[in-house]
Amino acid sequence: MQTVTLNNGVKMPILGFGVYQIPPEETEQAVTDALAAGYRLLDTAAAYLNEEAVGRAIKNSGLPREELFVTTKLWVQDAPAQENTKRAFDASLNKLGLDYLDLYLMHQPYGDVYGQWRAMEDLHREGRVKAIGVSNFYPDRLLDLVINNEVKPAVNQIETHPFFQRTADQELMREHGVQIQSWGGFAEGKNNIFAHPVLSEIGEKHGKSVAQVVLRWLAQRGVVAIPKSVRPDRMAENIDVFDFELTDDQMAAIATMDIGSTLFFDHHAPEMVSWLSARRLNG
Ligand code: NAP
Repeated sequence: MQTVTLNNGVKMPILGFGVYQIPPEETEQAVTDALAAGYRLLDTAAAYLNEEAVGRAIKNSGLPREELFVTTKLWVQDAPAQENTKRAFDASLNKLGLDYLDLYLMHQPYGDVYGQWRAMEDLHREGRVKAIGVSNFYPDRLLDLVINNEVKPAVNQIETHPFFQRTADQELMREHGVQIQSWGGFAEGKNNIFAHPVLSEIGEKHGKSVAQVVLRWLAQRGVVAIPKSVRPDRMAENIDVFDFELTDDQMAAIATMDIGSTLFFDHHAPEMVSWLSARRLNG
């Protein structure tokens, strides 16, 4: 598997498996199937409520820990943020049944971001997590964190797909050594993406599906992707993207699909700040 090297030297697979919206009772089987299909990067979150099932699948796989790259995410914490962040980290690690994490991400740019980040810096210094990063940080919030902290985020996981390509954001991240990671790489199927004429035509030329074209396009841009599927046939399809290459013209054709705005959440919208901040997790 092709890897990217994070700003602290840690290597991360360029393609992994995400488990958002997989119900806890289906997650163990999905992750077991994903590991059998060859995925080694797993992306979960405290907020997905399926960390325990991910942990069981990891344990039952018998795979050596060092072969895996496991990410989970911190939800917005009540004050005191530093203390609560450490407690939340312990709870996640415990649910996953692991003794270290590969990547811990701050899930949302809300709450006492600095308090949460300082706790994450401590966890990183203590060697309990190999890399720390953020998610859903738009350029202003990201730069503020980069400039005013000791440890720079290694990753920013943001909505990135053919309709919202984030090329300027990616450039800024590159300047500051922050790796871009895509969530919702298929836009969760919105805008009828799997039948999109531009992507379908490119797929036909390579004998590949639309999903494979999208994942190849992300990999060629140096974007880490974590497609979700509960179907083993699609898991196999989604990881089979390293035996063809999109031409410059095909990359340019996909670039025309960018509408430059979210299909999901605007993290600047007041109602979104209220809605996401109001959610609290136990533990
Ligand atoms: P996604 O990967 O864009 O799309 C998943 C959807 O595509 C599912 O409905 C899946 O259906 C379908 N699908 C998968 N492979 C397919 C294929 N080859 N052909 C046709 N359909 C296919 O959506 P996502 O789960 O939102 O994003 C991916 C991961 O990003 C998440 O699982 C999560 O780990 C992460 N994420 C993070 C955030 C954040 O705030 N940080 C937000 C959202 C997501 P089936 O399952 O039925 O195959």
